[in-house]
Amino acid sequence: MKILRTLTLCLCLSALGASAQSFKPYRVLLVISSQWKDPASFLVTGGGEFQTLVTMFKSWGVPFDILRLDQVVLDPGQFADFHGNPRYGAILWDAGSDAHLSADGSAVIREAVEEKHISLIALGDHMQQPEIQRLLGLRYLSTHMHSAHATVTGESFVLRGLGPDLHTKGPELTAKQRVQVEVAGATVLATAGGMPQVTERDLGSDTRALWIGGDTDQMLLYQPVRSALRRAVTEAIGYSLVKTWTNKIVLTMDDMGNAQNAWLEHWHYPALSQEQIRQYMIEPLKRHHAVLSLNIVPGFVDSAQRRIVPTWRQQFTDEFGVKQDYVSTKNGLDEGIAEGVFEIESHGWTHMQPDLSSPPGPWWNAPLYDERAEVGWYREFYDVRRDREIPAAEQKFRMRQSREWIQAEFGIEPLEFSTGGNGVSRSWANNTWRIAAEAGYGYYGGYLGKDLAVEGRADSNADFGGSDDVPLLLPALPDGHDRGVVHNPEGFAKVFDLYPDRDFIGMDEYIGYQHAVIETAPAPGPFKISVTYDSHYCRALAAKGSEWNLELSDWLRSRVQGRRIKIDGKDGQTVGRESSVAHFAPGAGTHTIEIH
Ligand SMILES: [Zn+2]
Repeated sequence: MKILRTLTLCLCLSALGASAQSFKPYRVLLVISSQWKDPASFLVTGGGEFQTLVTMFKSWGVPFDILRLDQVVLDPGQFADFHGNPRYGAILWDAGSDAHLSADGSAVIREAVEEKHISLIALGDHMQQPEIQRLLGLRYLSTHMHSAHATVTGESFVLRGLGPDLHTKGPELTAKQRVQVEVAGATVLATAGGMPQVTERDLGSDTRALWIGGDTDQMLLYQPVRSALRRAVTEAIGYSLVKTWTNKIVLTMDDMGNAQNAWLEHWHYPALSQEQIRQYMIEPLKRHHAVLSLNIVPGFVDSAQRRIVPTWRQQFTDEFGVKQDYVSTKNGLDEGIAEGVFEIESHGWTHMQPDLSSPPGPWWNAPLYDERAEVGWYREFYDVRRDREIPAAEQKFRMRQSREWIQAEFGIEPLEFSTGGNGVSRSWANNTWRIAAEAGYGYYGGYLGKDLAVEGRADSNADFGGSDDVPLLLPALPDGHDRGVVHNPEGFAKVFDLYPDRDFIGMDEYIGYQHAVIETAPAPGPFKISVTYDSHYCRALAAKGSEWNLELSDWLRSRVQGRRIKIDGKDGQTVGRESSVAHFAPGAGTHTIEIH
């Protein structure tokens, strides 16, 4: 994971005559109470708005830290660097009423916001601590059920362009909680049934206290509310550098190389040939400039030898009398990789039980109608046949083997991990997401990294996949497996009719953006954001180039209007609109944007 080169995004604020305080660090502190179920602060699980926030912030690329008040005492050092300068541009307050602020804790927050000029954003009824209410300019009254939608009441940066009704582009729900507040200094931007629901308070020329009301269990299911939150981050900090995913699809297909198709009666079919792969997959993908992420299996069960052998060298007639030619499949995969339409990802090592010998087995050499017909043997990361978890060390070994064997065959290090048949272990010790993150994978239904792992749905999509915030992770037609293409080869390309005018990006690109390291130089001094791509997680962006949106709030834009934006040191567009696209040429390392 060495850094090859560094690209920098730099708003040279000293040249603008602005004070150091005017330009905030690009980093958000997410403050929660007891929502993080993992006492070890690594696995993000259990759903709820906390998991949604982590997913969105990773997907947008907004840098953040998490402060959990169930374990950590508030301390001024959390908000300031060694020199006493603010560490964050904004605090996102998501601490529920179970978090009580002591007098000292309240003083820490007051100082962070009022003296360090760190803006504040609060969500739903997670704003009941008296100091938070005071800073927001609100008085909390109560929360009761009410079906009213939040509607925009006037012009503001935060809600601009989101339409009058903020509860659209999401589920039709009427049973929801409405937070009831009284205004005590804030400006109302949206109401719900006459009650304030989105508010903003100026705490100085560059500091804002924003509240986005709603039912925290539901509010983030609505696109306009998620957009409002993203725009609130921009308003709070003055700027943001974000990624959005409108019309982007990540197409995935499981199973090439799995042993089920040769041994499991109800999942039996001949492996795809090079010809089939070329005609029915590579050609349509090329025509639509699309990429397909293939979760493949590099290890195959050899019954004669009772060991795992390389899948892509097997040619035999199986016991159903069907010719299996994995060499031909491999040639098809190589062709698709060379054409740039296939990405190779990990579907485990074998798609099989690690223990194929003990009772109720052995699976080895059992008759086709006996144990070989049991699907439980064909699951690798949860022992479905014996209904027990796979121990952590065993999983780790198999994740490593998968990577090594895929590298040996294709020269590609897989970044996505996906288990066979969604067989996963979920206890902390054996948690498949945690182990995959530690093994260096970057995504499995949710972000996986060295900092944390999101236990996403094993079938992949967040609730809002296919929105501006998260790409649509779509199992390839006809059935998300190579099996579907065998039975209905023409079915594969129908996805391009079903989703016209979409951009079929690869999983590696999505992983790259989630792992980009975005940093600003410490204040005071020229404001600088660097966007750094490592050669592991971010290799797709290093290879293809990348694009981010530079968003400017009205209040910051008025100060830098007419200045030139420099990208990687090259003169570019003039600051004018609130949003501009920063395109980085290929190259790992650090890229920069400056405004001179
Ligand atoms: Zn599978």
